[in-house]
Amino acid sequence: MEDNTTSGLREQQLRRKRIRKMKSTIIAGVVIWILGTSILSLSLLVKLLHLESRMEELAESVISVEQVVENVNEKSAASPDGNAKTADPVKNGTILENALEEGESRKVYLTFDDGPSENTAKILDILKEKNVKATFFVIGQEDEESKEMYQRIVAEGHTLGMHSFSHKYSVIYQSLEAFSEDMAHLQSYLSEVTGVTPEILRFPGGSSNQVSNTDMREFIRFLNEKGITYYDWNVASGDATSQAYTPDELVQNVMNDVGRYETSIVLMHDASNKSGTVEALPVMIDKLQELGVELLPIDENTTPIQQIPADSVQ
Ligand SMILES: [Zn+2]
Repeated sequence: MEDNTTSGLREQQLRRKRIRKMKSTIIAGVVIWILGTSILSLSLLVKLLHLESRMEELAESVISVEQVVENVNEKSAASPDGNAKTADPVKNGTILENALEEGESRKVYLTFDDGPSENTAKILDILKEKNVKATFFVIGQEDEESKEMYQRIVAEGHTLGMHSFSHKYSVIYQSLEAFSEDMAHLQSYLSEVTGVTPEILRFPGGSSNQVSNTDMREFIRFLNEKGITYYDWNVASGDATSQAYTPDELVQNVMNDVGRYETSIVLMHDASNKSGTVEALPVMIDKLQELGVELLPIDENTTPIQQIPADSVQ
């Protein structure tokens, strides 16, 4: 009888022990599973963010390549819009230097995407010192310093254009609704901060980007209806390509191309990691001014440079 009780007790103890062991195994399993999935999703998030920024670089470099092909084509024929200069071995060569004839006018529009950033004040200081007005296609930043930068851009006579509030390709190009919401948000925000309602826009990646999930003509039709003009570029400084150009090379990239067009819209970036652009800017301005080109901010008289012409979309 006593023996039975003792063995019964022992069995019970053993069972409890087994259950405790099982419990801790299950808990350890769950903890490992939670930790594992958290680490996995965190690393996926980091990868996603990295990919998003690479996507823009790629979209912009694809357009740069398209531009090069277009430029090569223009060597043998003037472009149908009559904007490009006709074939001329001197002007279509690598350098514009000394190629400008008396009385000939060339317009160059310097444009900066993606600001405000840590470099905006430096860019504005250089422009002020050189007495040059430019165009900023900005994104939505709500900190005080950025607000000051939007205000400086307007107060110092530059043109404030819209780029995108979120600048997230995956969001804004998801649908017309998402795009129009983002744009309305940015437009009203800028108007509230600066007192000026911007009416020009640059599509992130350009109007012919290959990233958008939605047909870009949907967005173009919408902008046409709203009376908003979008500007792409025909000269890329190369500051957004994966190839790391030196400031001198950025200047040279621009100088190589401005000779080809009566109107050049130059793509540059106002971003914290683009100090090369800041370094290149004063040299670029000096060289352009030596050639006698007009450096202007975009306004309603500017010939739009559009990869997909707005009037081709009904
Ligand atoms: Zn951008």
